[in-house]
Amino acid sequence: MDYAELDRQLLGDLWTSEALWDDLAYLCDACNGRFAGTADERRAADYLLGRLRAHGLQRVAAEPFTMRGWERGAARLEVTAHGLTFDLPCLALPGSPGCDLETGILDARRGNAAAYTALAGSAQGQIVFNSQDGVSRAEMYRAASEAGAAAFIFSGAQPGMLVPTGSVGKDLPAIGLAHEPLTRLKRCLAAGPVRARLVLTCQVHPVTAHNVVAEIPGADPSAGWIIAGGHYDGHDISQAAQDNGAATAVLVEAARLLAPLRGRLQAGLRFVLFSGEELGLHGSYAYATAHAAELGDVRAVLNADVLAQGMPVVLQTQASPALADWLRALPLKQLDAVLNDDPKAFISNSDHFPFSLAGLESVWAVTSGGPPGTGWVHSAADTLDKIDPRILRQTAATVTRLLLRLAAEPEGLPRGLRPPALVQQLVTDAGFEPALRFSGRWPF
Ligand SMILES: [Zn+2]
Repeated sequence: MDYAELDRQLLGDLWTSEALWDDLAYLCDACNGRFAGTADERRAADYLLGRLRAHGLQRVAAEPFTMRGWERGAARLEVTAHGLTFDLPCLALPGSPGCDLETGILDARRGNAAAYTALAGSAQGQIVFNSQDGVSRAEMYRAASEAGAAAFIFSGAQPGMLVPTGSVGKDLPAIGLAHEPLTRLKRCLAAGPVRARLVLTCQVHPVTAHNVVAEIPGADPSAGWIIAGGHYDGHDISQAAQDNGAATAVLVEAARLLAPLRGRLQAGLRFVLFSGEELGLHGSYAYATAHAAELGDVRAVLNADVLAQGMPVVLQTQASPALADWLRALPLKQLDAVLNDDPKAFISNSDHFPFSLAGLESVWAVTSGGPPGTGWVHSAADTLDKIDPRILRQTAATVTRLLLRLAAEPEGLPRGLRPPALVQQLVTDAGFEPALRFSGRWPF
């Protein structure tokens, strides 16, 4: 197909409309962090439903699901060291249970299973913290839980008193601590034993959250569907602009620009704006479960998560060789995208993953790193002012033109679900089995 005329139409409309920025501004300024199960999330869902209906999409609906919800309370870490007692500012991590406990604090080094093995049981009953050298929050939390720690401290390396956030899904109390108080804690420990009282009044309870779905049907029903997804929920301490308001606005803009072209699309486009991602991919798991019978007709999943810090858009295929081959044949430089098909780029902590488990091939669309000082995700500084409207537009152009090509010429895209034995092998090779078992989501 000759895309020049369609691209001119899309790009002209994109560059002369304020819709994209207006959508992002509403999501951030009227809906705050859109934390799953709250009135902010519901307001965002209603807004997104209204926009998608106005753009002429079909079967626009909110799909409710229940999940492990969470309500923030007070958090206090009172430390006693070398004869002094003082508070260190902290925040509970979403998903943490409440607690009131008093015990010692221990440096658990890297915080992975090997680090706890070296500690030979001394972490039992202690509040543990870790260095920041590449072990993921989820892995550190799991290792601390399995070592019998009393509480888990997650800290960031970025100066500026920014408390890092990120969810946990089990019964071990957990807090975030900014870089500066953590370094003070380390100075205290260097001088002798440290005790602390940790009081969290947060609560875990079931909530109802909503995925927002909408479709642009394809001209050829036998060509199946492309899922264009991304989460619209975010963390409660910020506006969740980079993660993931920007991608939400980009997907709604793509829906606006592509709806008038429906006669040119062979495959359908199914937009799915997930909720509950930040508390543990609840929306995407719920969608993949509720729509399991239809997933065999899905040709590819594009998951947009953390966009618009820099260009080009990185297309990180998720152990999906056939989709990578299809993408490699595109004029990627002209589309302002780069392909990363490294098998090690397969990640389990974003919304494509439940579809990967079901056997689909998927690609994670993610921003290039921006200039220094532009990465604010999972902190209170993830706010609208950090988004450059030009980069947001460029990102929307790339994602929209990519979705056009996926839906217009789906020949060559994978068809059908990969067998469970192959998926199990991919997931095992990627090292995801312990985490999936820990969260009770091992499906094999
Ligand atoms: Zn995200």
